[in-house]
Amino acid sequence: MEGLIMDYPLTTTTILEYGNSAFKHKKIISHLPNGSRHEYTFGDLHKRCKQLANVLIHKLGVTKGDMIGTFAWNHYQHVELYYGIPSVGAICHTINIRLSSHQTEFIINHSEDKVIFVDASLVPLLEKIANQLETVEHYVIMNAPEKFSTTLLNVLHYENLLEGASEEFEWPTLNENDACGMCYTSGTTGLPKGVLYTHRSTYLHALTISTPNAANYDSSDIVLLIVPQFHVMAWGYPYLCLITGSDMVLPSSNLQPEAIISILQEEKITKANGVPTIWMGVYEAMKKNPPRPKLALQEYLVGGSALPASLIKGMEDDFGIRGVQAWGMTETSPLGTVSRLQPHHEKLNTQEKIKIRAKQGIEFPGIEMRIVDNNGKVAERDGKSMGELQVKGAWVIKSYFKTNNRDNFTDDGWFRTGDVSTVDSDGYMHITDRTKDLIKSGGEWISSVALESALMSHPKVKEAAVIAIPDEKWAERPLAVIVLTAENEVVSDANFKEFLSRDFANYQIPDNYIFVSQVPRTSVGKFDKKEIRRLYAQGEL
Ligand code: ADP
Repeated sequence: MEGLIMDYPLTTTTILEYGNSAFKHKKIISHLPNGSRHEYTFGDLHKRCKQLANVLIHKLGVTKGDMIGTFAWNHYQHVELYYGIPSVGAICHTINIRLSSHQTEFIINHSEDKVIFVDASLVPLLEKIANQLETVEHYVIMNAPEKFSTTLLNVLHYENLLEGASEEFEWPTLNENDACGMCYTSGTTGLPKGVLYTHRSTYLHALTISTPNAANYDSSDIVLLIVPQFHVMAWGYPYLCLITGSDMVLPSSNLQPEAIISILQEEKITKANGVPTIWMGVYEAMKKNPPRPKLALQEYLVGGSALPASLIKGMEDDFGIRGVQAWGMTETSPLGTVSRLQPHHEKLNTQEKIKIRAKQGIEFPGIEMRIVDNNGKVAERDGKSMGELQVKGAWVIKSYFKTNNRDNFTDDGWFRTGDVSTVDSDGYMHITDRTKDLIKSGGEWISSVALESALMSHPKVKEAAVIAIPDEKWAERPLAVIVLTAENEVVSDANFKEFLSRDFANYQIPDNYIFVSQVPRTSVGKFDKKEIRRLYAQGEL
């Protein structure tokens, strides 16, 4: 028997309407690429989204199902695009600005973007490939300086378009299973693949992430969105903040540690997100120059790669700021698990507590996870049995955009993450590695993530990445690539080996340590192990 409750589609438009109705005066503050500060309210956002809807339909000829690209930093216009585009039934395709020209060209042609909204400062990146772009009819420029010229054709200006547009617009009725956003994986493992989010998945993801066991935001929070809007929909934060009524602060291109610290201070930020490398940089800078007065920041949510235990401890001991780890992928919208302590953990000592928080944590309601071992069996939840992490749920991909490749999907309906993990008896998942980054030495598995985390707790190490290198005797051996805290520091291999021997068996400890000034990064700020392996193979490390 069907229930007797209204059929109410869960769409991003309903989030926009809710933000305007419940939290009209809450703020969206942008620190723009030109250094200026812009501030307006959720009410202003709502009005401008209606103007944008008129522009999309009446000036740009956008129709339902059209793919509309954005190529931009985090700022209020980008938030308007996050709502305005899906609200007229089109799809907001956020293009990663840090990919190679070849990948960017591939993504735009593959997704068939009809219009691209682009920040003036990023236009040169599109100019290089514009001749190869097959479907783009208009480029709409945002944040253009007074003197602006471009070789792009069919150029319009965002503010000019909005200026004359009506604030009246009747939202169309949408199906909650319609596509609303699209993001490509960053191509760490091959050509980027498109993930097409639905209104429903976006709504449920944002709603769930806002809950106390997850991000835990409410209307007293001032949230800094460091995770780029051009990757994995900024972890859904532009939607989440309208649900929780939290003020939203957007840093655009101001992402150097000093710039982030100054925004944290100026805007009295209480919560923030970001990948570990951002927070490692912020922590180092704060140690050198502790912020006065004390920051209002209570908590930073970290994902994208493992949050080192040393960073959790350092930020908390030195500055009283809590690091909370989440795990996710482009394919999981992105957040799938989070690690917070529960009351029964209170009896543990500090070190044991940090060990739990350095795990990737428990799944969100709406997500299921399991570990499948090499024999295809679901592994025990004993914290030791390792296997591939597989997930399913209300915001997990069921198929990549425009491809029938099913390699990442099991016959019984699970998504294969490519991460190798354990789950303990409390249900906390712990990533050991990505399948391709695991090191197999003399038939034994070695976790590069565990070695990196341990090396980064060495007082003289700022960053550490560990890769597998070929070895005649053992097939593979771990190699550590290290950035020291100061250029004139010296640490011997013997010192590292002795340091690691406290936690690792002899065969797991790297024989070789290479010192570099910076570990290569991917387009989204993770250690780029593919690039490190390439540099090593070519003798360039
Ligand atoms: P790409 O796959 O292109 O690197 P994603 O941003 O989707 O792009 O990366 C997802 C991957 O990042 C996960 O499969 C996992 O390996 C890694 N990851 C994400 N969060 C964490 C975390 N908290 N700890 C360890 N690894 C993580």
